[in-house]
Amino acid sequence: MATESPRIPSRQWRGVLHEYADRLNISDATPIITLGEGGTPLIPAPALSARTGAQVWVKFEGMNPTGSFKDRGMTMAISKAVEHGAKAVICASTGNTSASAAAYATHAGIKAAVLVPEGKIAMGKLSQAIAHDAELLQVQGNFDDCLDIARELAANYPVHLVNSVNPDRIEGQKTAAFEVVEVLQDAPDFHIVPVGNAGNYTAYFRGYSEELERGVTTKLPRMFGFQASGSAPLVLGHVVKNPETIASAIRIGNPASWGFALEAREKSDGYFGAIDDAKILEAYRILSAEVGIFVEPASAISVAGLLERAEAGQIPRGSTVVLTVTGHGLKDPQWALRTANGGDITPTVVPVDAAEIAGVLGLSKATA
Ligand SMILES: *Cc1c(COP(=O)(O)O)cnc(C)c1O
Repeated sequence: MATESPRIPSRQWRGVLHEYADRLNISDATPIITLGEGGTPLIPAPALSARTGAQVWVKFEGMNPTGSFKDRGMTMAISKAVEHGAKAVICASTGNTSASAAAYATHAGIKAAVLVPEGKIAMGKLSQAIAHDAELLQVQGNFDDCLDIARELAANYPVHLVNSVNPDRIEGQKTAAFEVVEVLQDAPDFHIVPVGNAGNYTAYFRGYSEELERGVTTKLPRMFGFQASGSAPLVLGHVVKNPETIASAIRIGNPASWGFALEAREKSDGYFGAIDDAKILEAYRILSAEVGIFVEPASAISVAGLLERAEAGQIPRGSTVVLTVTGHGLKDPQWALRTANGGDITPTVVPVDAAEIAGVLGLSKATA
């Protein structure tokens, strides 16, 4: 039996469908399936401001219920699927979509089947899909193969597709732009996002466009999207057959929202850039060790993109820049333990002895 979430007292953030009901394509007939997604913090990043001369803010989407922005679109996609009588949903995923689909489907009391590329999913994400009782299959192919099969199954069998080719996903995801505008009281000058299928890039552009139309902002932000160098079809202008990057969430060679993304870039005077894996990991380290925000490698490409564009003189001093960081660091924590030359960091072992530990920490006794 499909179940609807009960109403929640209004002092608690109620999830994006309740909070933005009047700005989404839902009606009284839509059962709202929510885990309280959205309402994520927009965090000032003084260390990044100091490095670039811009006013840098980080929209930390790892704070969503399953640890990525996918939840914003999934609450919408699963609610609409249930409204239309779906008993099962299917998706292809590089990991976070499967975690999110599994959680929201379970919450709604329906089934989720997820197709992931074999051996290419971070352990945290795999664990989530299994914990939430999804039917998870590892396909002997890449993400693009998984999406082709998911589309074929949804077209021919009674399962509802919840990938970002489902317009409900992008509709839900646009709410992140509303939240940014609420905090800044206008659109930023630049908005930077990691790009895989380009659904999120498209969604932010849509959200900001609606805000401009409503007259609550004075401009569109310039939308800057970054792909990993080994997986950069939008930068190269052609499909990448065998995409490669350590940033598994954006290891996509044929973006589903390609057309929308090109339109958003053009209308926002935007930009697509490519960043290599070494620079992604450098930015990952800067964000965790200097700003205090722990993200998965794909998310750190926003930071790397900002630093690269600032270096290129593309970000005027004093500009307001929002970086979306898409997923939580605990999803794929192994990278935090890697050193520059690829070895793992082993924490120092010490005896149960305060004086000795003080010595190791370089502490000397305070003199009164
Ligand atoms: C899905 C995902 C992306 C890519 O988003 P698209 O909408 O596919 O461009 C980036 N980072 C993380 C962590 C993701 O889960």
